[in-house]
Amino acid sequence: MSKLKREEWYDIYRDVNWTPRYVDHEAIFPEWWSGTGKIPLEAWAEWDEPYKVSYSEYVVTQREKEASAFAVKSALKRSTIFDKLDEGWKSVSKEHYGATSLVEYMAVLAELRMARFGLAGAWRHMATFGALDEIRHAQLDLLFAHEFIPKDPQFDWAQKAYHTNEWGVVAARALFDGLMSNPSAVDTAIQLPFTFETGFTNLQFVGLSADAMESGDYNFANMISSVQTDEARHAQQGHPTMQLLMEHDPKRAQWLVDKTFWLSARLFAILTGPGMDYYTPLEHRKQSFKEFMEEWIVNQYARTLKDFGLREPWYWDEFMRGLETWHHSLHLGVWFWRPTVWWKPQAGISKAERAWLNDKYPNWEQQFGPIWDQLIANVNAGRIDKTLPETLPWLCETCNLPIGTAGAPGHAHHPVRAYSMNYGGRMHHFCSKPCRQIWWEDKDTLHQDTIIMRLLTGQIQPPTVPGILGYMGLTPEVMGDDAYGYAWAKEYVTDTLRQVAKEAAAAGSVPAK
Ligand code: MN
Ligand code: MN
Repeated sequence: MSKLKREEWYDIYRDVNWTPRYVDHEAIFPEWWSGTGKIPLEAWAEWDEPYKVSYSEYVVTQREKEASAFAVKSALKRSTIFDKLDEGWKSVSKEHYGATSLVEYMAVLAELRMARFGLAGAWRHMATFGALDEIRHAQLDLLFAHEFIPKDPQFDWAQKAYHTNEWGVVAARALFDGLMSNPSAVDTAIQLPFTFETGFTNLQFVGLSADAMESGDYNFANMISSVQTDEARHAQQGHPTMQLLMEHDPKRAQWLVDKTFWLSARLFAILTGPGMDYYTPLEHRKQSFKEFMEEWIVNQYARTLKDFGLREPWYWDEFMRGLETWHHSLHLGVWFWRPTVWWKPQAGISKAERAWLNDKYPNWEQQFGPIWDQLIANVNAGRIDKTLPETLPWLCETCNLPIGTAGAPGHAHHPVRAYSMNYGGRMHHFCSKPCRQIWWEDKDTLHQDTIIMRLLTGQIQPPTVPGILGYMGLTPEVMGDDAYGYAWAKEYVTDTLRQVAKEAAAAGSVPAK
């Protein structure tokens, strides 16, 4: 029996569509699920994925990927690599597992929505593979993290994080629900594969993989690179969908991209920024977060936007300036509120690290140096209580991140301030103008209270730091603390003594020698 060539059967096989006779189209593809909007139904016949794959080819490739991910894992099983990993690096991987594992599962549901309600047979075919991909990612993440739980209970948050109301998780859930759980198939395709997976997963899975290799975490590097090969394939569902939307409703396309990009950038400033610029050991840092962002997001993604005839988002200059400030402010906040996270934030402020920060970010010292000096002085004077929170910062109602973290102290264009709006009988507060504008457009579909709102409306009891930590699901054995037990602050002791003497002299007394 002679075999047909792939190109002879592929189009028939992948584009299975028929005209239903017993029910009407709307019953099978309700508009609120499919979301075709101004795209005429006939236009969907043009949908054509750039990357072709059949089921049998898919299975063979995926089997190989799984085999190689597990080969590395089992080869390293009896090694002592984990015990030798730097504590700061371990925090990168804990943060990643907690913030990502169950999002991979959420992505299964988003892919299945496109596989069911996408209006082109070829799209549904691609999305089915996407769903299988995401099952694999959720399972890989959970399995790889599970192995470390006996050594360190913080790894349990790979599974637990999204079942809690931890504040970073609330922020991540707000973004990912908006990208994946709430929208129609078309909106999902623009927000998830086109914007998020084409831009931001590259940063997380390629950029972070480079740091993981350098840090000696081969298992993690190998796992996330394996995940990225799937993301790169199924992200391409976004392109033909974007083509149709640009043709028939460019305004909608631009808005979806603009808001998704902004919200993703805000979240990545906390998800990836501190890991790259503070937690990864200095000698293993491949590039700064800003350099990774410039490479993967600014250059590559901005080119994709142009190729499709999209404009730069309206806030582009503000976003670019944010590369200098956002993640530094967020890192400072995470370190200060360290009991509220499930990893051990590494301060990353030794003198050598500080020199690196000042080299990569020329305004770092002026904006963040004085605050860190105060924290260091308190650490060295044994006043650890002064370096810990007594309450929560006000949170932005759109991105759920602390107000002030879209700016920096003393920054001319980005001062620490709130952007407010009086609406519906109360004031609403935001970290930035774009977050305020996105909230205004989307307010009818946003139903997630910030942790602050929950505190003010009595949902968190007692309204104290222990009460808040309990509400967030943080038990004593997983609460974050400084990665190195403050050892890094020792080299500043003489500076601290000098400062204490200065304070004492100003107060009119001379300290005893
Ligand atoms: Mn995935
Ligand atoms: Mn994906």
